[in-house]
Amino acid sequence: TPPPEPPWLAGLNPEQRRAVETLDGPVLVLSGAGTGKTRVLTTRIAHILHLRRAQPWRVLAVTFTNRAAREMRERLAAMIGPVAESVWLGTFHALSLRMLRRHAEKVGLRDGFSILDADDQLRLLKQLMVDANMDPKRDPPKALMGRIQRWKDRGLTPDRVPDADAREGAARRARELYTRYQTRLLELNACDFGDLLLHTLAILQAHPDIAAEYQRKFDYILVDEYQDTNVAQYLWLRLLAAGHRNLCCVGDDDQSIYSWRGAEVGNILRFDTDYPGAAVVRLERNYRSTPTILGAAAGLIRHNTDRLGKDLIAAGAAADDPDVRKVTVRGLWDGEAEARWVVEEIEALGHEMRGSGNGTGNAAAGTAILVRATFQMREFEDRLMTCGVPYHVIGGPRFYERLEIRDALAYLRLVAQPDDDLAFERIVNTPKRGLGETSLQTLQIMARAAGIPLLAAARDLAASDELKPRARTALGAFVADVDRWRALVGGMPPSEVCATILEESGYAAMWKADKSPEAPGRVENLEELVGAVAEFETLDAFLEHIALVMETESKGAAAGVTLMTLHAAKGLEFDVVFLPGWEEDLFPHKRALDEGGQASLEEERRLAYVGLTRARTRAFVSFAANRRIFNNWQASMPSRFVDELPDAFVDKTSDTGLYGAVTAGFAEEFGGWGTRHPRRTLAAGSGGSAGRVAPGTGTWKVRDRSGDGQGIRVGQRVFHQKFGYGTVQSAEGGKLAVNFEKAGRKTVVAGFVEPA
Ligand code: ATP
Ligand code: MG
Repeated sequence: TPPPEPPWLAGLNPEQRRAVETLDGPVLVLSGAGTGKTRVLTTRIAHILHLRRAQPWRVLAVTFTNRAAREMRERLAAMIGPVAESVWLGTFHALSLRMLRRHAEKVGLRDGFSILDADDQLRLLKQLMVDANMDPKRDPPKALMGRIQRWKDRGLTPDRVPDADAREGAARRARELYTRYQTRLLELNACDFGDLLLHTLAILQAHPDIAAEYQRKFDYILVDEYQDTNVAQYLWLRLLAAGHRNLCCVGDDDQSIYSWRGAEVGNILRFDTDYPGAAVVRLERNYRSTPTILGAAAGLIRHNTDRLGKDLIAAGAAADDPDVRKVTVRGLWDGEAEARWVVEEIEALGHEMRGSGNGTGNAAAGTAILVRATFQMREFEDRLMTCGVPYHVIGGPRFYERLEIRDALAYLRLVAQPDDDLAFERIVNTPKRGLGETSLQTLQIMARAAGIPLLAAARDLAASDELKPRARTALGAFVADVDRWRALVGGMPPSEVCATILEESGYAAMWKADKSPEAPGRVENLEELVGAVAEFETLDAFLEHIALVMETESKGAAAGVTLMTLHAAKGLEFDVVFLPGWEEDLFPHKRALDEGGQASLEEERRLAYVGLTRARTRAFVSFAANRRIFNNWQASMPSRFVDELPDAFVDKTSDTGLYGAVTAGFAEEFGGWGTRHPRRTLAAGSGGSAGRVAPGTGTWKVRDRSGDGQGIRVGQRVFHQKFGYGTVQSAEGGKLAVNFEKAGRKTVVAGFVEPA
């Protein structure tokens, strides 16, 4: 007799139930957002285990993120208890690693091989480029790395990269380097992230016995978010499922948003050709969102031509339910007003964060602010902090903790406070100024010996002959830069000082020249920083604010409002979702429009669809009429996506009257909008906001140092490590002019000589 029916089946609708109970053979659940695909997948595992169709370690389940895997495991444990622990549940990478550890020798790796992070990866690639005499100007390392990664996404080892893919110069060189890179990794007994999948795939392909072993091992295979699998992942699955074909994939073509990382939506659209006889289940009832949110989302996504097309029915409240609110669409004055409005709304909703127990089991479910680009987060973070609303950022550091922002802040700190050695260390050779390890060590030793700050030591060192000429010049130029920037403080608005520093230091240029996929985002963040500085009257006031912000941040709990990118929000759900920045060029993003045409526009629209469908009860879309981009105010147009939301489901509380009339007046008052294109360009000194900012009031503490050369007198005989013995001719500041017996007359740092 079969075991009694478990409680979790009772809650499913008939289609979901069919997807759960069709255990044998391929099953595809291709359905819209919030229809219970993830729930089906979790329940299916529970059901398999409950019926004892397989032992837990013979079930393989793939999720999109580690976090999703954790959540699924928790839900599973809640249904069937601790056996959930033994299920092979994780991301493609995590699962591949588990297999690779067992068969490492098959691809030339040894036990305990290491996995390189992105930094190591790039460093290694650069070394190889030097060895191969490759010109990093012609072939930017990050661009080469990108090509290699795309090949890996497609499951192509170097020998398999087709000639057609490597014909033009850069591609051909990339393929050659790819070969060397893989060889070098093996010599180092290491692999990179992409290799986890690639190596495992290669093993399965080259060793039918191993493939057969895994095909026998896993009785059931399940995959969430199948629309975002890349070719390597697709092939990996196909090999593993080749025997029994007990493969269940769930996904939604309307939510395919990772093509820029090699994902191919074609994988899901081709499923029933790849697996003939597959049971295809379509779920139409959405259990997550209100009918208005669904209506708005459906109206939007209908503008995509390249889709299967499916509509959703709200399972909960009816559209005429008085409790069901329309999607709020609001136009605001500028980004600051937008942030203020969002946080006001959050407070007005009096939203008690729910600890747990919702849908997919997200712990911090409640309210989310979902942005298109990370630079947008800053304004919200500032506002949330000011109002004391707890929040956390998912999928990346908070704004002021980002690498490029910390670097930029280090420049500002050093200018405001020349004794700030930590700031000095951080940026003295960022961007590269040709200061090697040895020079910097000399500097450290000297500063410590003399008990003076690094900047002061650098000044002395640059005026001496201690360093090689190249390093000396570089250090001198850096000190001169800092002095010049200090002189600007007080005379111009702090945001312009900031802009000037980013420009003249070459720091902004460094990221603009960078070819990595995250570099444009970093440039945007720097521009956003300049905007943040513009809100303060003095540089000191800004830095004080930052110090306080950092202080609260380090205490931040992982609760409260969730701030994250739209990309990271896939699969999650929240009671209330805010979708700010729906403006042309921001969302849809200018980069997507410029580079990818219609296909990219449709991917942006799918991203908007993902955003809207994260909401259970309320969704708020907003756009600003003006953005301060760097030092320029710039008018923005509401996103085309705003217009695509059907009127019936939205409530435009926007003060559109604000538009024409007032903006024109504003433009007059502040001297025009600045150029609209190119968007966000870093150019120093064009201060559209200058009129708002009072002159700074920075003051400088000048360090008082005695000029006696640390107790060494003129005429004294001294010894110097590099130049040997000599006699002191004169002493000034921390520097000595010494007539060396062998080296001749040199200027040296007083701390570096000892009485002979
Ligand atoms: P997405 O496409 O966004 O990943 P999804 O299709 O995976 O969404 P789920 O996250 O599984 O959808 O489910 C959405 C919400 O609906 C969850 O809160 C889930 O618990 C709930 N739900 C799903 N099916 C049912 C059902 N039959 N009865 C009640 N609630 C359900
Ligand atoms: Mg899901």
